[in-house]
Amino acid sequence: MKKIIWGLVLLSFFNGHSQAVKPNVIIILADDLGYNDVGFNGCLDIPTPNIDAVATQGATLTNAYASYAVCGPSRAGIITGRYQDRFGFSRNPLLAPNDSEMGLPQSEETLSEALKKNNYTSIALGKWHLGAHTTHHPLKRGFDQFYGFLSGGHQYFPELWTLNDLSEIKKQFDGYKTKLLKNYERIDETEYLTDALSRETVRFINENSQKPFFIYLAYNAPHTPLQASEKYLKRFRHIKDKKRRTYAAMVSAIDDGVGDILHKLKEKGIEENTMVIFLSDNGGPEHHNASDNGELRGGKGDFFEGGIRVPFAIKWPAKIKPNTVYHQPVSTLDIFATATENANVTPKNKLDGINLIPYLNGTLSKPPHDILFWRNFDKPAAAVRQGKFKYVKIKKNKGLLFNVNSDLGEKKDIKEKDSVQFLKLKKAWFDWNEKMKSPSFLGLIHNKKYNELHPDRFHIDSDFLPSTNLPKPPKGYSLLWNDEFNNDGSIDGQKWTNEIGFVRNHELQWYKKENAYLKDQVLVLEARREKVKNIHYKRKSKSWKQQRKDAKYSSASVHTKDKFSFRYGVVEVRAKIDTSKGLWPAIWTLGIDKKWPSKGEIDLLEYYLYEDKPTVLANAAWSNSLLKPIWNSIKIPLQKFTDKDPKWGDKFHVWKMDWTEKYIKLYLDDVLLNSIDIRNTLNSDGFNPFKQPHYVLLNLAIGANGGNPSKTSFPRSYLIDYIRVYQQH
Ligand code: CA
Repeated sequence: MKKIIWGLVLLSFFNGHSQAVKPNVIIILADDLGYNDVGFNGCLDIPTPNIDAVATQGATLTNAYASYAVCGPSRAGIITGRYQDRFGFSRNPLLAPNDSEMGLPQSEETLSEALKKNNYTSIALGKWHLGAHTTHHPLKRGFDQFYGFLSGGHQYFPELWTLNDLSEIKKQFDGYKTKLLKNYERIDETEYLTDALSRETVRFINENSQKPFFIYLAYNAPHTPLQASEKYLKRFRHIKDKKRRTYAAMVSAIDDGVGDILHKLKEKGIEENTMVIFLSDNGGPEHHNASDNGELRGGKGDFFEGGIRVPFAIKWPAKIKPNTVYHQPVSTLDIFATATENANVTPKNKLDGINLIPYLNGTLSKPPHDILFWRNFDKPAAAVRQGKFKYVKIKKNKGLLFNVNSDLGEKKDIKEKDSVQFLKLKKAWFDWNEKMKSPSFLGLIHNKKYNELHPDRFHIDSDFLPSTNLPKPPKGYSLLWNDEFNNDGSIDGQKWTNEIGFVRNHELQWYKKENAYLKDQVLVLEARREKVKNIHYKRKSKSWKQQRKDAKYSSASVHTKDKFSFRYGVVEVRAKIDTSKGLWPAIWTLGIDKKWPSKGEIDLLEYYLYEDKPTVLANAAWSNSLLKPIWNSIKIPLQKFTDKDPKWGDKFHVWKMDWTEKYIKLYLDDVLLNSIDIRNTLNSDGFNPFKQPHYVLLNLAIGANGGNPSKTSFPRSYLIDYIRVYQQH
């Protein structure tokens, strides 16, 4: 009994203690870098002192294998720690932004999702290539931040990023030309791509050094197109071959980035407990980018060593001795297990990789893997590595057997000499393959076929989606204030205030704070059918706000009073309203001074039942001598919009106000609905409420003008994509 209690005490001590020592994890992934193109593997013409520092301050793994010989599947293996063939990610995905099947399945747990379970903060940078559909976005796959691009490659110079968004793409490789994404937003980056990715990584470390973090930095360098900036090219004037010179410059840019990252870790004092892993996703395609796999046979795309054996170094000063060199076969699938096990995280799925640390520090002396497998479903091709032996089968041969310890270049097929070994590995592969899945999507090699099957492949109907791009202001205007609602969680308290409780018009809802929240790049105002106790209830009160014992609905209303107001300008609100019966969504502005209606009200949008018909309204109101509102109102039956476009209610629309000292013009999707001459909007006391600053209010009311919601199903939501206020210079 005593022993058990002691065990528990120790366990909880270690658990508590380990909380404090969770290592930071940084994966630095190069793209199509040759095995021989780093100093730690013997490269002579491209100095890589910073990349080499990862190896000399930690371990060089000479027999490290990617789980596939091209980008996409290899990355799917790294980010899940599992053979990608287990979940059908056996091909390089096509850029298919409308296709939720084209990418990493939701059944898989990403390393960011796993580490999040132990409170890691994470960022993905650079090339994603694990799906371009919104459901595959890095922020949907456990990352807190993203800075990069979704496609399988990219142009390096900002002036070549001519497309604003995926909606402007017409063919597969147009993905290389998009502006970069910062989280969900397209931004204007000005630096050479590799430098920009390094800079953002350093920024992230700077901002997150106090808590455990995970960085997945996927440089697309030195993948084609071969493009390097003068800063790096001038270091390699002596290299005659232009391709190799540019390639060297691109690798040198990565090396500078690695240097900046290591420097920042040191400066922040977190070097000791940060795990830095440097590797390439596959072997070098020597002809394409002038990379060099050294003695290894073959290159990117095939299962000879040149295609799958990759440069690999890992440092973690707390656990790995400097200048460790490790020769046993390891896999890039091991990164996941190494990170999660040392972060005290239990993965959701069974991993194929293992924690490398006990092997690298000598605690365990047996090889980490009994056997490793590769499969190219389409070629078809197969490979197995066990001990010193390697089996390789490509379409045109009957299978080959090599001793890769003595014959690194895979020159001498020994299957005749060692047929027992040959048959054993061959059988092992077939047994393994039985457990794998067929590919779940078409790949890059099926581009033509995919286009035939999906003629509207790149047709993104952006009317249904939140915007991702903050455009330049209209000519003569500048952006005064905006909220794009692009973070997840609660609304920005610097900008907005929630209304609480019963507020206006005998409406049915109790306004609550939690019914307004940010999700998937929009502000959600959510109407719920739920009983909320009226904390101001007084049985005998004459006030409607007090005499109701409870509310039967809840919803949300937010405004900018005392936080933001403006006088004259253009307001644009992009929103998707819910036209269900009983709902009353609105976009208003209200004057900062005086009581309603003397303060003035402008309704860019009101939607409710008018004479029993669903109606869109565009109004302004001010005050008569009895302090009752005078309305200037335009009422348009909803049917006018839905007759033209039956999907009108499923789409986002832009409500706009153009307000000057002369007029207020209200537009819906650029169609003028109402024009109000503000010479005629004086209150009876002579005060003009439309010459004073106004604040903004967004709300979703229930009942009253909205009609009876009792037959409507709940919850319902009113989505606001953005609000932007512009003023003339
Ligand atoms: Ca690659």
